[in-house]
Amino acid sequence: MEKKGRVFSGARPTGRQHLGNYLGAIRNYVALQDEYDCIYCVVDLHALTTLQDTQRLREWTYEMVLDWLAAGIDPERGTIVFVQSHVPQVTELHTILSMIAPLGKLLRLPTYKEKVRQQPENVNYGLLGYPVLMAADIALYKATVVPVGEDQASHLEFTREIVRTFNYHFGPVLVEPQAKYTETPRVLGIDGVNKMSKSLNNHIELASSPEEIYARVHMMVTDPQRQRRSDPGRPEVCNVFSMHKIFTPPEQVKQIDHDCRTAGIGCVECKRIFAGHLIEHLAPFRERRARLSQDPDYVWNVLREGARRASVIASQVIEEVKDAVGLPKRR
Ligand code: ATP
Ligand code: MG
Repeated sequence: MEKKGRVFSGARPTGRQHLGNYLGAIRNYVALQDEYDCIYCVVDLHALTTLQDTQRLREWTYEMVLDWLAAGIDPERGTIVFVQSHVPQVTELHTILSMIAPLGKLLRLPTYKEKVRQQPENVNYGLLGYPVLMAADIALYKATVVPVGEDQASHLEFTREIVRTFNYHFGPVLVEPQAKYTETPRVLGIDGVNKMSKSLNNHIELASSPEEIYARVHMMVTDPQRQRRSDPGRPEVCNVFSMHKIFTPPEQVKQIDHDCRTAGIGCVECKRIFAGHLIEHLAPFRERRARLSQDPDYVWNVLREGARRASVIASQVIEEVKDAVGLPKRR
């Protein structure tokens, strides 16, 4: 079948994938494989901006790719999965794009300011250049569609702008991508306040055992006004209820809504029901993950082949870019 275009997305190898990654991004990674040529990248260079300790990058790369494959990303269907640093042309494109990247805009991006707040002891140049490197990731593959969570919206907008600027100055070489969101573009963490994030440790890992899932779900913050078991609850402000809407059959969701408002059900029981449905939903994932991990070379073989195929595209596009910019050809 003729594909509609190219999809690109990446994620930082900073831990196993969680429910936020799954609901906000991976669901689309998997679905888009039917209609697009898909490229999914382990952005290890991006991980260096926040990691003080880089010792676990290799382990996390393995774990994350295992999660992706178990979730249904399928190299057999032509999908490319590779490690960012294995295809170094991206750093060349990053350097070239940095020459047209407006510094004022980078300094004003909310994502940059947030990182500065989070790690005042490590405000490095890479943090500021993060969106430029991300633009290079996407532009290097001329991707048209980028499945991401809502937290990446400003970065995607930055990518579109820098691609337009490049094309304006140097000719129509790069492609302006569209962000693609799921129905749940911002999943809250178990704290019920912040975006679910590996770095905030407010997440539920997809690869968790049923016991771990029960334990994490038990920690979830519910309606703060519901102090006692006899207080009526407000499902509309409760993160557990928003999860029920995703994982629990609609009839039971209605019942829980009613029972919560009338204090007919307590938060502990409500969480237990949600955890049960989540565990059931993830069972096929856990089985596939266990099966795939029996061959420890499988992930690395997928990544080797992915890097080989990604390099073919990257080498071609970087030549077009250098040519358009006017850099002297090597003779
Ligand atoms: P870190 O804390 O290390 O940044 P993370 O948990 O934010 O990790 P990323 O690797 O940065 O995860 O994100 C991978 C993809 O998952 C991105 O497309 C991102 O937008 C999406 N994503 C991450 N967290 C959420 C969330 N809570 N809800 C929806 N999408 C999310
Ligand atoms: Mg993140």
